[in-house]
Formats: sequence, C-alpha cells, structure tokens
Amino acid sequence: MDVLENMEGDNVLNLSRMDLDTVPLEDISEEKQNETQQLLLTHNRFSVFPGSVACFRNLLFLDISSNRLTFICDEILELGKLKTLIAKNNRMDEFSLPKDLGKMGLEIVNFSGNRFEEVPSQLLELQRLKSLSLGGNRLKTIPPKIEHLISLELLYLGGNGIISIPPELANLPYLSYLGLCDNRIQGLPPQLAQLNSLRSLSLHNNLLTYLPREILNLVHLQELSLRGNPLVVRFVKDLIYNPPSLLELAGRIVKSRNLCYTLKDMPGNLVSYLDSASKCPNPKCAGVYFDSCVRHIKFVDFCGKYRLPLMHYLCSPQCFSPCSSNSQSDCDSEDEFNVPRHRMQKVLLGTARALKPQVFFLIWLTELE
Ligand SMILES: [Zn+2]
Repeated sequence: MDVLENMEGDNVLNLSRMDLDTVPLEDISEEKQNETQQLLLTHNRFSVFPGSVACFRNLLFLDISSNRLTFICDEILELGKLKTLIAKNNRMDEFSLPKDLGKMGLEIVNFSGNRFEEVPSQLLELQRLKSLSLGGNRLKTIPPKIEHLISLELLYLGGNGIISIPPELANLPYLSYLGLCDNRIQGLPPQLAQLNSLRSLSLHNNLLTYLPREILNLVHLQELSLRGNPLVVRFVKDLIYNPPSLLELAGRIVKSRNLCYTLKDMPGNLVSYLDSASKCPNPKCAGVYFDSCVRHIKFVDFCGKYRLPLMHYLCSPQCFSPCSSNSQSDCDSEDEFNVPRHRMQKVLLGTARALKPQVFFLIWLTELE
C-alpha cells in the first residue's frame, strides 16, 4: 500500500475515511509503524478500539473521532509516548475506558460528543493533562476531584446538563480557558476569582441571573461571554432579611468602634466570633456584619459601557444608597469597581435578534491597538 504510506509526511499516517473496522497492519511496513507519530483513523467503522494500534510504539498523536467506538481496550496503555488522544463523536460512556488510563502521560484528551454521564475517574488521574474537552456529553456535575488535574490549562464542558460548579474548580492554577456554555448553571462560586490565570470564560446560554462580584478580581480575564442568560436588568434586592441577633449587634459595635479585645477579656468562642466579621462592601459604610446581611445586586459599569449585575452582601437594609431603590440607577456604585478598559477585550452579552439566530453580537470593549 505504497500510495497510502506516501500520502502524508513521514511521521503521519492518515487512514481516515477508509471504511475500516480493523487497522490493515499487513499493508503497513514495520518501518512505517515505527516512524509514525501521528495516526488518523477518523470517519471509519471502529466500534472497539483497534488493539493493533499498539504496534505504533512511537505514536504521539491519535485521532479516532467519528467512529462508533464504545470501548477502548487495554492495548492503548502500551502507547507509552502518546500525548494526544482525540475520540470525538463516538458512543463512549464512563464504562468504556481501561482502568489504568489515568497512568498514561496524556496531555490532551478530547472526548466531546460522546455519552458520558459523569467525568470518568481515570481522566481525573492524568497528572500531565493540559487540555480536557468533554463538550456535548450528558454530564450533570463537575466532580470536586477536578482539582487533581493540576496541569490543566483548558477545560471545555459546553453543551452538557451541568447545574452547578464546585468551588474546587478554582484550585487549578494554570487554567486559562474555561468553557461552560450551553449548560444549566444558575450561579458561580465566588471562589472562581482565585483562577489567576483565567483569560477566557465562556458562560453563554446558562441560567445565570447575576455574577459574584468577586469575578472582577480575575485580572487576566480578556473574554467573557454571557449572552443567553436571564441576567437581571433591574435593581433587585432580597427582601428576606433576618434581623441581627443581640450578639451580632454587640459584635458590630465592638468591631466598628475598633474596641480592643483579647482572650483575657472574654471566652475564646467570642473572640473567634468577633474575628469572623466581614467588612461591608459599601464604600460609604464603615460597618461590619457577621451572619445577618442583605443580598444586594449591584450593577457594575464595565469599561464605561455595559452594566453587569453582580451580587454582594451589605450590612443592613439601611445601607443602600438613597438612589439605589430607583430601578436602574445605582448611581454611587460605579467608582469602586470600574473595570479598566484595557483589561477586558470583549464581552458577549446578547444575540442580535434582527440577524440570524446563530449570528452573535461581538461587543468590543477596547479599541484594537
Ligand atoms: Zn454597610
């Protein structure tokens, strides 16, 4: 099969679209098997991962997308150099993978378009994994063990049925791209603000009504997509407010008047209670709160153009500024959180209804320099 072997560069063997259900090893010289680093088997008829692929012992890249794959057998574990495994658009679920897959040195895994209902535990053991795509599956949750993927730079989980995000996701120090679009997410954990490397956050088509104000701490964020969320556009406040306890009222006085207290003055549990005070985020209020606070949606001016609803807590209902009950204007709120224009490159906020539904509005928030 000389023609086949000469189709690509020396290191690439392309066996895509050949109606294969086995790899025709008899037609591939041993020399070619040894020098092949990239093997493409897409758009064939494989239902089981072909074990003979183990003969390509120098393989770095394997793409077996768009087959009928339901099972990957143990032979894949013999590919000791494999870095990239792409098996999009197949029929795999969490029972399809070898038990020891997590011991491989994989850096890029793309299992989008399969039937996974949960993130397979083997994938969470891949210490060198930099890029994980599981878009278009049937995931409902993100496991807290996602934090074990300490090398992860890209995580794409769009097009699933994910409802919530575990705070552990925020423990990924190198995560720079996070794709969570087209899910059913109702809220973001404020811990997300710890993702110091995050540059792109895609949240379009979810059920978000507001964002945690901590999101403004994502100093490297350049792209944020929010279209297709029921973001609140009017001032709202949570009317459920439990009046502060006497303990809280006393504690507030101690803290706001900067009274000194030590373990000699009071029991340890009171000292730790006093130490747990949160500062009221209203810049015009020097107060603190403990357990009793009011949820408040604040509209923050993004780069002088767009107002995003961010959620935070205030110390009491009286802490609202006089003008903030006035539906859309929360006029004192802007100065403190203004996001520098240069920081955010684009925010996707809405669809252009007049255009085709697929055409999205790109709102550029900085001039291109
Ligand atoms: Zn206050």
